[in-house]
Amino acid sequence: MRYLIVADIHGNLEALETVIADAQRGEGFGEIWCLGDMVGYGPDPGPCLALLRSFPLVAVAGNHDLAATGKIGLELFNRHAAEAARWTVSQLSREQISYLAGLPLQLEQGEFTLVHGSPLDPVWDYFLPDSMSHLEFRECFRRTRTPFCLVGQSHIPFFCRERDLAFLRLPEGQDVPLARAERAVINPGSVGQPRDGNPQASYGIYDAAKRVLIHARTPYDIAATQAKMRYFELPEPLIRRLSQGL
Ligand code: ZN
Repeated sequence: MRYLIVADIHGNLEALETVIADAQRGEGFGEIWCLGDMVGYGPDPGPCLALLRSFPLVAVAGNHDLAATGKIGLELFNRHAAEAARWTVSQLSREQISYLAGLPLQLEQGEFTLVHGSPLDPVWDYFLPDSMSHLEFRECFRRTRTPFCLVGQSHIPFFCRERDLAFLRLPEGQDVPLARAERAVINPGSVGQPRDGNPQASYGIYDAAKRVLIHARTPYDIAATQAKMRYFELPEPLIRRLSQGL
C-alpha cells in the first residue's frame, strides 16, 4: 500500500487538488495520512475538509483545526491568523466543526506516529533546530514508540535522524529508504502554505512494500487561491506569502 502524507493544507483547495492529482499519477495511493491544520488561513476550509474526507483518511488535529472548534482560544494566535480563524469558523458546517473537534492529537499507524507539533506538545511545538532544546529533541524520540514520527506545524520539509539529531534535506522525487534501525522524525512540508522559500505545494508518499519515503513538490495555481482570498478580504500578508513560499 502507498500512503499520501499531507500536512498544513490550510484551506488551500487549489494546492490540495493538485497534490492529490500529482500523487494519483503512476502508482497512486490507497489512504491519506494528514498531520493537521486542514483549515485556517486559506479560502476553502470546507471544500478541503470534504475532499480529504472523500478518501480513506487518518488524521490528527493541528492548532488551527482546534481553533476552529473553539477548543483553543484565538488570543494564542497572531492578529492575521486570528482574523483568518474567525472567518474560517463562519465557513464550516456544524458537522465539520464536530468532525474537527473529534480528531485525536496523536496516533500510531504501524511504524509511524502521526502528530502535528511534536510528541512533547502535539498542538504547539515546532520541531525545528532553533525552536527546541537538545533535551527536548531527545525527549520527543524517547516518547515515540514507533521507529518513525511524522510531524507538520513548521511547514518546512526535513528528515531528522535520532542518531545525531541532524536535520537533512528531503530530496525531491527520490526514494528515501526507511530502515527500522534509523529512527527519525520527518516533516513532509506544507501543502497549502510552504515556508521554506519554495512556493510549490509539498507532500510525501510512503510506499510500505518498498519501505521508502518519497518527497514531492508540485506547482499549483497560486493566483487562483490568492484571488479567492482577496474576494473574502482575508489579510493581505497571508495572501502575499503564498507566492513567496514564506
Ligand atoms: Zn500550519
